[in-house]
Amino acid sequence: MQETAALFLVPTPIGNLEDITLRALRILKEVDVILAEDTRTSGKLLKHFDISTPMQSYHAFNEHRAVEGLVQRLASERMALVSDAGTPAISDPGFLLVRECLAQGIAVECLPGPTALIPALVNSGLPADRFIFEGFLPHKKGRQTRLKQLAKESRTIVLYESPHRLVKALGQLAEHLGEDRQASVSRELTKLHEETQRDTLRELANYYANSTVKGEIVIVVEGKP
Ligand code: SAM
Repeated sequence: MQETAALFLVPTPIGNLEDITLRALRILKEVDVILAEDTRTSGKLLKHFDISTPMQSYHAFNEHRAVEGLVQRLASERMALVSDAGTPAISDPGFLLVRECLAQGIAVECLPGPTALIPALVNSGLPADRFIFEGFLPHKKGRQTRLKQLAKESRTIVLYESPHRLVKALGQLAEHLGEDRQASVSRELTKLHEETQRDTLRELANYYANSTVKGEIVIVVEGKP
Protein backbone atom coordinates (compact mmCIF):
# COMPACT_ATOMS: atom_id res chain seq x y z
CA MET A 1 0.00 0.00 0.00
CA GLN A 2 1.44 3.40 -0.94
CA GLU A 3 -0.85 5.28 1.45
CA THR A 4 0.71 6.50 4.67
CA ALA A 5 -2.35 6.72 6.95
CA ALA A 6 -3.08 4.08 9.58
CA LEU A 7 -6.80 4.83 9.75
CA PHE A 8 -8.88 5.38 6.61
CA LEU A 9 -12.44 6.61 6.71
CA VAL A 10 -14.02 4.99 3.68
CA PRO A 11 -17.35 6.28 2.29
CA THR A 12 -19.71 3.58 1.02
CA PRO A 13 -22.74 3.89 -1.32
CA ILE A 14 -25.97 5.46 -0.04
CA GLY A 15 -28.09 3.28 -2.31
CA ASN A 16 -26.30 2.53 -5.56
CA LEU A 17 -23.38 0.11 -5.41
CA GLU A 18 -21.85 1.68 -8.52
CA ASP A 19 -21.00 4.71 -6.38
CA ILE A 20 -18.14 2.99 -4.54
CA THR A 21 -14.80 4.37 -5.71
CA LEU A 22 -11.90 2.32 -7.06
CA ARG A 23 -9.72 3.65 -4.28
CA ALA A 24 -12.28 2.71 -1.62
CA LEU A 25 -12.26 -0.88 -2.95
CA ARG A 26 -8.47 -1.02 -2.93
CA ILE A 27 -8.17 0.35 0.61
CA LEU A 28 -10.85 -2.04 1.89
CA LYS A 29 -8.86 -4.93 0.41
CA GLU A 30 -5.50 -3.77 1.70
CA VAL A 31 -6.16 -2.87 5.34
CA ASP A 32 -5.75 -5.39 8.16
CA VAL A 33 -9.24 -4.87 9.54
CA ILE A 34 -12.46 -3.05 8.64
CA LEU A 35 -14.31 -1.36 11.49
CA ALA A 36 -18.00 -1.49 10.59
CA GLU A 37 -21.02 0.21 12.11
CA ASP A 38 -23.04 -2.91 11.28
CA THR A 39 -21.03 -5.95 10.23
CA ARG A 40 -24.09 -7.54 8.55
CA THR A 41 -24.76 -4.50 6.36
CA SER A 42 -21.09 -4.02 5.47
CA GLY A 43 -20.70 -7.78 5.05
CA LYS A 44 -23.12 -7.67 2.11
CA LEU A 45 -21.14 -4.85 0.50
CA LEU A 46 -17.83 -6.68 0.97
CA LYS A 47 -19.27 -9.91 -0.39
CA HIS A 48 -20.57 -8.10 -3.48
CA PHE A 49 -17.08 -6.78 -4.20
CA ASP A 50 -15.36 -10.02 -3.23
CA ILE A 51 -13.46 -8.48 -0.32
CA SER A 52 -12.49 -10.85 2.49
CA THR A 53 -10.79 -8.44 4.94
CA PRO A 54 -11.79 -9.27 8.54
CA MET A 55 -14.43 -6.99 10.08
CA GLN A 56 -14.92 -5.74 13.59
CA SER A 57 -17.96 -4.00 15.01
CA TYR A 58 -17.63 -0.27 15.72
CA HIS A 59 -20.90 1.52 16.42
CA ALA A 60 -22.36 4.38 18.44
CA PHE A 61 -22.96 2.11 21.47
CA ASN A 62 -19.37 0.90 21.86
CA GLU A 63 -17.62 3.94 20.39
CA HIS A 64 -16.38 5.50 23.66
CA ARG A 65 -15.23 2.14 25.05
CA ALA A 66 -13.56 0.96 21.83
CA VAL A 67 -11.51 4.05 21.00
CA GLU A 68 -8.62 3.52 23.43
CA GLY A 69 -7.94 -0.09 22.40
CA LEU A 70 -8.19 0.73 18.72
CA VAL A 71 -5.76 3.63 18.98
CA GLN A 72 -3.19 1.29 20.57
CA ARG A 73 -3.65 -1.25 17.79
CA LEU A 74 -3.38 1.45 15.12
CA ALA A 75 0.29 1.82 16.05
CA SER A 76 0.93 -1.45 14.19
CA GLU A 77 -2.27 -2.19 12.19
CA ARG A 78 -4.00 -0.47 9.31
CA MET A 79 -7.72 -0.04 9.59
CA ALA A 80 -10.64 1.25 7.55
CA LEU A 81 -13.77 2.62 9.18
CA VAL A 82 -17.06 2.29 7.29
CA SER A 83 -20.60 3.19 8.31
CA ASP A 84 -23.84 1.63 7.05
CA ALA A 85 -23.98 4.15 4.21
CA GLY A 86 -22.23 7.33 3.13
CA THR A 87 -19.26 8.98 4.83
CA PRO A 88 -18.30 7.85 8.36
CA ALA A 89 -18.47 10.62 11.00
CA ILE A 90 -21.20 12.45 9.07
CA SER A 91 -24.24 11.82 11.34
CA ASP A 92 -22.52 8.48 11.99
CA PRO A 93 -19.80 7.16 14.36
CA GLY A 94 -16.21 8.18 13.62
CA PHE A 95 -15.46 11.57 15.10
CA LEU A 96 -14.27 10.22 18.49
CA LEU A 97 -11.82 7.82 16.85
CA VAL A 98 -10.47 10.48 14.47
CA ARG A 99 -9.97 12.95 17.32
CA GLU A 100 -8.15 10.40 19.49
CA CYS A 101 -5.93 9.19 16.63
CA LEU A 102 -4.89 12.75 15.82
CA ALA A 103 -4.21 13.45 19.51
CA GLN A 104 -1.90 10.38 19.58
CA GLY A 105 -0.10 11.32 16.36
CA ILE A 106 -1.71 8.56 14.27
CA ALA A 107 -2.26 9.51 10.64
CA VAL A 108 -5.87 9.57 9.50
CA GLU A 109 -7.26 9.97 6.02
CA CYS A 110 -10.87 10.31 4.86
CA LEU A 111 -11.45 9.25 1.26
CA PRO A 112 -13.85 11.36 -0.80
CA GLY A 113 -17.02 9.55 -1.76
CA PRO A 114 -20.75 9.11 -1.25
CA THR A 115 -22.69 11.20 1.24
CA ALA A 116 -26.36 12.21 1.11
CA LEU A 117 -26.00 15.91 1.84
CA ILE A 118 -24.10 17.00 -1.28
CA PRO A 119 -26.41 15.55 -3.99
CA ALA A 120 -29.45 16.80 -2.03
CA LEU A 121 -27.98 20.30 -1.82
CA VAL A 122 -27.12 20.46 -5.50
CA ASN A 123 -30.45 18.87 -6.57
CA SER A 124 -32.36 21.48 -4.55
CA GLY A 125 -31.48 24.24 -7.01
CA LEU A 126 -30.83 26.54 -4.02
CA PRO A 127 -27.50 28.38 -3.66
CA ALA A 128 -24.77 25.81 -3.01
CA ASP A 129 -21.84 28.22 -2.73
CA ARG A 130 -22.47 28.72 1.01
CA PHE A 131 -24.49 26.29 3.11
CA ILE A 132 -24.72 24.81 6.58
CA PHE A 133 -25.24 21.15 7.42
CA GLU A 134 -27.35 20.65 10.53
CA GLY A 135 -27.56 16.84 10.58
CA PHE A 136 -30.69 15.70 12.46
CA LEU A 137 -32.64 18.29 14.45
CA PRO A 138 -32.79 17.41 18.17
CA HIS A 139 -35.94 15.34 18.76
CA LYS A 140 -37.05 17.04 21.97
CA LYS A 141 -34.68 19.08 24.13
CA GLY A 142 -33.13 21.94 22.21
CA ARG A 143 -35.37 21.59 19.15
CA GLN A 144 -37.14 24.95 19.55
CA THR A 145 -33.84 26.73 20.24
CA ARG A 146 -32.30 25.20 17.13
CA LEU A 147 -35.28 26.20 14.99
CA LYS A 148 -35.04 29.78 16.30
CA GLN A 149 -31.34 29.86 15.41
CA LEU A 150 -32.07 28.52 11.93
CA ALA A 151 -34.63 31.30 11.40
CA LYS A 152 -31.72 33.79 11.37
CA GLU A 153 -29.52 31.73 9.03
CA SER A 154 -28.85 33.32 5.65
CA ARG A 155 -27.02 30.35 4.10
CA THR A 156 -28.80 27.37 2.55
CA ILE A 157 -29.67 24.85 5.29
CA VAL A 158 -29.29 21.07 4.86
CA LEU A 159 -31.01 18.72 7.32
CA TYR A 160 -31.34 14.95 7.68
CA GLU A 161 -34.78 13.68 8.66
CA SER A 162 -36.58 10.38 9.15
CA PRO A 163 -39.73 9.71 7.09
CA HIS A 164 -42.08 9.60 10.07
CA ARG A 165 -40.90 13.01 11.30
CA LEU A 166 -40.88 14.72 7.89
CA VAL A 167 -44.29 16.39 8.04
CA LYS A 168 -43.72 17.62 11.59
CA ALA A 169 -40.29 18.99 10.63
CA LEU A 170 -41.61 20.76 7.51
CA GLY A 171 -44.46 22.28 9.59
CA GLN A 172 -42.08 23.54 12.27
CA LEU A 173 -39.62 24.88 9.70
CA ALA A 174 -42.51 26.74 8.00
CA GLU A 175 -43.59 28.15 11.35
CA HIS A 176 -40.12 29.41 12.33
CA LEU A 177 -38.52 30.25 8.98
CA GLY A 178 -41.61 31.36 7.05
CA GLU A 179 -44.17 29.44 5.02
CA ASP A 180 -42.99 30.93 1.72
CA ARG A 181 -39.38 29.87 2.12
CA GLN A 182 -38.24 27.74 -0.83
CA ALA A 183 -37.12 24.24 0.04
CA SER A 184 -36.62 20.75 -1.30
CA VAL A 185 -37.11 17.23 -0.05
CA SER A 186 -34.83 14.58 -1.57
CA ARG A 187 -35.91 11.02 -0.94
CA GLU A 188 -34.09 7.77 -1.69
CA LEU A 189 -31.13 9.44 -3.40
CA THR A 190 -29.31 7.18 -5.89
CA LYS A 191 -31.98 4.46 -5.46
CA LEU A 192 -34.66 3.19 -7.85
CA HIS A 193 -37.39 5.47 -6.47
CA GLU A 194 -35.26 8.59 -6.03
CA GLU A 195 -37.26 11.83 -6.11
CA THR A 196 -36.73 15.48 -5.26
CA GLN A 197 -39.73 17.75 -4.60
CA ARG A 198 -39.06 21.51 -4.74
CA ASP A 199 -41.58 24.05 -3.43
CA THR A 200 -42.31 26.38 -0.52
CA LEU A 201 -42.21 24.90 2.97
CA ARG A 202 -46.00 25.31 3.15
CA GLU A 203 -46.63 23.38 -0.07
CA LEU A 204 -44.13 20.67 0.80
CA ALA A 205 -45.77 20.21 4.23
CA ASN A 206 -49.19 19.91 2.53
CA TYR A 207 -47.86 17.54 -0.13
CA TYR A 208 -46.31 15.09 2.35
CA ALA A 209 -49.22 15.39 4.84
CA ASN A 210 -51.37 13.75 2.15
CA SER A 211 -49.04 10.86 1.33
CA THR A 212 -47.36 7.96 3.07
CA VAL A 213 -43.70 8.89 3.40
CA LYS A 214 -41.09 6.16 3.17
CA GLY A 215 -37.35 5.98 2.65
CA GLU A 216 -34.42 8.18 3.55
CA ILE A 217 -34.73 11.93 3.41
CA VAL A 218 -32.72 15.14 3.16
CA ILE A 219 -34.45 18.52 3.56
CA VAL A 220 -32.82 21.60 2.05
CA VAL A 221 -34.15 25.07 2.91
CA GLU A 222 -33.37 28.46 1.39
CA GLY A 223 -31.49 30.78 3.75
CA LYS A 224 -33.06 33.97 5.10
CA PRO A 225 -33.41 36.30 2.11
N1 SAM B 1 -23.12 9.04 6.87
C1 SAM B 1 -24.28 9.29 6.04
C2 SAM B 1 -23.92 10.33 4.97
O1 SAM B 1 -22.71 10.53 4.71
O2 SAM B 1 -24.82 10.90 4.37
C3 SAM B 1 -25.47 9.70 6.87
C4 SAM B 1 -25.90 8.70 7.90
S1 SAM B 1 -27.33 9.16 8.80
C5 SAM B 1 -27.36 7.94 10.06
C6 SAM B 1 -28.64 8.60 7.78
C7 SAM B 1 -29.43 9.75 7.17
O3 SAM B 1 -28.77 10.21 6.00
C8 SAM B 1 -30.82 9.36 6.71
O4 SAM B 1 -31.77 9.42 7.78
C9 SAM B 1 -31.10 10.43 5.67
O5 SAM B 1 -31.46 11.64 6.28
C10 SAM B 1 -29.71 10.58 5.02
N2 SAM B 1 -29.57 9.64 3.89
C11 SAM B 1 -28.77 8.57 3.80
N3 SAM B 1 -28.93 7.96 2.61
C12 SAM B 1 -29.85 8.65 1.93
C13 SAM B 1 -30.45 8.52 0.65
N4 SAM B 1 -30.14 7.52 -0.17
N5 SAM B 1 -31.38 9.45 0.27
C14 SAM B 1 -31.71 10.46 1.09
N6 SAM B 1 -31.18 10.63 2.32
C15 SAM B 1 -30.27 9.74 2.74
